[in-house]
Amino acid sequence: MPGVLLARRVDVRGQYQGAYVRRDNRVKHPRWLAQLSQQSRPGRVVNLCFIIVLLLSTVLTWREVAVLEDAYVTGQQTSLVNVARAFDAHMQLSIDDIRIYHDSMPEAINAPLPFEALRHAKNDFDALRKLPEWVISLDVMRTIPVKGVSDAFVEETHLLSRAHPWLENELTATLELGYLMYLSRHASRFAWRTQYISRAGFYLSSEDLHNTDGTDILSSYYSRESEPWMVEQTPQANPSRKLRWYSAMTPEVTLTASMPVDYRNQWLGVLAMDFDLSAINTFLANAAAGEGDGRFQLYDRHMNLIAWSGDVVTLSERENARLAGAIAKKSRGGIRFTGGYVSWQRLADFDGVMLRFHTFGEGVRSDFGTISIALTLVWLLFTSMLLISWGIIRRMVLNMSEMQRSLEWQAWHDPLTRLYNRGALFERARQQTNLCQQRQEPLAVIQLDLDHFKNINDSWGHQAGDRVLVHVGGLIGSSLRGGDIAGRVGGEEFCILLPGTDLADAYQIAERIRQRLNSKEILLSRGTTIRISASLGVSSSEEHQQYDFEQLQSVADNRLYRAKQQGRNQVQATD
Ligand code: GH3
Ligand code: MG
Ligand code: MG
Repeated sequence: MPGVLLARRVDVRGQYQGAYVRRDNRVKHPRWLAQLSQQSRPGRVVNLCFIIVLLLSTVLTWREVAVLEDAYVTGQQTSLVNVARAFDAHMQLSIDDIRIYHDSMPEAINAPLPFEALRHAKNDFDALRKLPEWVISLDVMRTIPVKGVSDAFVEETHLLSRAHPWLENELTATLELGYLMYLSRHASRFAWRTQYISRAGFYLSSEDLHNTDGTDILSSYYSRESEPWMVEQTPQANPSRKLRWYSAMTPEVTLTASMPVDYRNQWLGVLAMDFDLSAINTFLANAAAGEGDGRFQLYDRHMNLIAWSGDVVTLSERENARLAGAIAKKSRGGIRFTGGYVSWQRLADFDGVMLRFHTFGEGVRSDFGTISIALTLVWLLFTSMLLISWGIIRRMVLNMSEMQRSLEWQAWHDPLTRLYNRGALFERARQQTNLCQQRQEPLAVIQLDLDHFKNINDSWGHQAGDRVLVHVGGLIGSSLRGGDIAGRVGGEEFCILLPGTDLADAYQIAERIRQRLNSKEILLSRGTTIRISASLGVSSSEEHQQYDFEQLQSVADNRLYRAKQQGRNQVQATD
């Protein structure tokens, strides 16, 4: 482990002296941290840490914003639901009126009230029915007149007929309905006109309570009996005989609810209620004002705009299609659109949907918007600070790890020859010897000392001597195989460890090194070259099954000494 490198204390000649000492004073890191920094480069660890922090902060902020958005959406929908409920309550009043009228008609036909006035009305009808236009009125202060057209007009028109046995009773029932309408005339806020149009060529309209219908009876009746809300109530067109909604966009927007009136399975006429859209607009405008901001818009089932609270918000075609699709699937919900957020609520008492538009600007001004913006700004600030500190820390870590690598290299190597230094060589050599001993492999040690090196220093100077040492270091390094270890153990003294090598092979290697050293002229300066030589001693574990490195080195050193004595520039592998 580089951080806790230990070296045995050795003497100048590499002799073992005693206890382990720490090579440096660095703090010992926890094992997991050391393993982490060993397995992955520190720069990567820093990157990973910052990415995790960035991701976490982003996810947390995003979660916060999502929670806020949920609250915003809930707020929008609650607001819409409140208004839609109030609207439904108003609509229900109107629809209830129609239903009461609808249910009262068959009963009134079946058992007319035994009033003199009603009997007179029947007589009046007999007398008037052939006239192009006629009016039968009971009491102008308490009821509504029935207006009619001639037998001839009825016969000419395909939809109309006076050929049913309850014709007179239907007339008196219509007059009774006039009383009912008169009594409930103030009940509904949104309806402005309720009518009964009989297929027998007469009609009753709450409009006549105010005497506002100035047009002649014939064209009034004609226009009514040709309206879609009348024509489309045949048993074939409306088999369920339920209330239906009709809206028209031209010439102006109108909204009508109509319901067929049948008696003994025969279609007699239609009850129709027209709605006052300006009253609905006012209702929506008041609702919008009460809800702070946003706009309410009412649509029919074909997504035609019927009423609105203020400036109309329009969606693009694509957004409209998306919204219509979403509304078809769910009765309540909301989606984002380019300009903001739109929520919808289908209505219970109207065949349509109410929309609430909340523009982006309104959203930003709301509490949710302000908090979201603040959150985003905090996230941006945090992220930029994180990025800046990431840059600084990364650079620091890279510098430090570079420095650490350089220090480690220096701690292990001799800077001049770039071979292992003495301590490192002993450390590595000890490991290798143990390994060879375990594997029962031979191990050889070569000890090398340059001959008369002092003379080089003396003659050519210290720098020339250094250059020679560099040359020798390079030459030794290039002569080694993969597992061999070489180090500078003294001034001009080198030691080479050859795992898996017996004495004979080690001798060959040593001899080759000696020859290579001696064969080349070394260029000291321009025009000055020298030839050097070295004496080498070789020892091997196989001689005495000796795996103690210090011992092996000592033997090799003795043989080196002998090589010196016997004339230098030679290898000695025996005692
Ligand atoms: P011998 O053949 O007996 O080994 O003779 P020698 O001169 O090589 O041996 P000696 O031990 O007398 O001299 C070794 C010299 O190596 C002495 C010292 O000045 C020189 N020396 C030691 N370290 C360095 C170094 O790092 N650079 C240089 N230039 N010289 C060094
Ligand atoms: Mg020497
Ligand atoms: Mg020497």
